[in-house]
Amino acid sequence: MRELTHEFATDAASAVATVTADPDACYVAGGSNLVDHLKLGIATPSRLVDVGRLPLDTITDLPGGGLRVGATVRNSDLAAHPVVRERYAAVSRALLAGASGQIRNQATTAGNLLQRTRCVYFQDATTPCNKREPGSGCSALEGYGRYNAVLGQSSACVATHPSDLAVALAAVDAVVVVLGADGERRVPLGELHRLPDDEPERDTTLAHGELVTAVELPPQPDGIRSTYVKTRDRASYAFALVSVAAALRTEQGRVTDVRIVWGGVAHRPWRADVAERALVGEPLGGEAIRAAVDAELEAARTTDETAYKLPLVRRATALALTQLSTRDEEALA
Ligand SMILES: Cc1cc2nc3c(=O)[nH]c(=O)nc-3n(C[C@H](O)[C@H](O)[C@H](O)COP(=O)(O)OP(=O)(O)OC[C@H]3O[C@@H](n4cnc5c(N)ncnc54)[C@H](O)[C@@H]3O)c2cc1C
Repeated sequence: MRELTHEFATDAASAVATVTADPDACYVAGGSNLVDHLKLGIATPSRLVDVGRLPLDTITDLPGGGLRVGATVRNSDLAAHPVVRERYAAVSRALLAGASGQIRNQATTAGNLLQRTRCVYFQDATTPCNKREPGSGCSALEGYGRYNAVLGQSSACVATHPSDLAVALAAVDAVVVVLGADGERRVPLGELHRLPDDEPERDTTLAHGELVTAVELPPQPDGIRSTYVKTRDRASYAFALVSVAAALRTEQGRVTDVRIVWGGVAHRPWRADVAERALVGEPLGGEAIRAAVDAELEAARTTDETAYKLPLVRRATALALTQLSTRDEEALA
């Protein structure tokens, strides 16, 4: 049996020093992802540094507008925060569309962003998986493929990123605050996760030992509204097949600002910037949305098992943008 120690961090800087110095150490927060991986034998640290008691559990106003969300704020508390519900609706909706009430009470903001893929082969230590064991091969290429990526995948990995929160935070241009051995740095959410390329074992652009201390939500432009549409096999307690976080502002019927981010389609939240550029300045109608989404999907590569994701992402995007443009309060409630 492998020995495992567990210690509570008393301050962020010493937690960073401890984990940075020990390649076998890692952080644990709510534990709802990591503890599963310990049980499955697919995470094998010898030292857990628990950040759950650090004073990083508050949501505060930023000078100049916006919110600073501490890394250990629970998913339930973030979803219920009145300013998040009102000004960052996509974030609140994404959280409430994820997991279950009990898990949301346990799961933290940083832990959610840094959870690992749900690819069945990654979670099964008896199968080859380049993400779990670099160089061993990718069982998903020839195996069960319904959840696989259709954008940005590589021959080494076709896994998708599972976090609903990450998709919504990308749509509101959130910034992740990270503390490392050399001090603090700020990472735009869209640059936190990476595509697999030939190093799928690296999910993010964080170095070993870097601690997420907060996520900042910048003030949103006047008149912009956001939402989150998630499609899944069951009405609750299921990961996204495809999801869409969208934010929209229109003036005199034309799009002046739009953000579209897709979940369930790639190894990271997928910012549909080709589609966004196609829509800005245009009247928002079904044909314009279809053309914009199709322009983005030109880069997609599907199999028989994943081809269904393309019509799903078209319809989910159209639904999200239409709800926002018609300001249908009932649909958005
Ligand atoms: C049955 C089930 C269903 C689920 N359904 C969904 C769903 O539909 N949508 C969804 O988005 N999620 C879903 N989840 C995932 C769940 O949301 C995550 O397990 C949870 O958000 C992880 O947060 P945590 O605090 O428990 O992380 P932990 O398990 O503590 O940590 C996760 C990872 O983050 C690292 N970490 C934690 N905090 C920090 C930090 N501050 N800095 C650096 N690294 C850190 C840890 O080292 C670990 O690698 C589901 C989980 C379960 C078990």
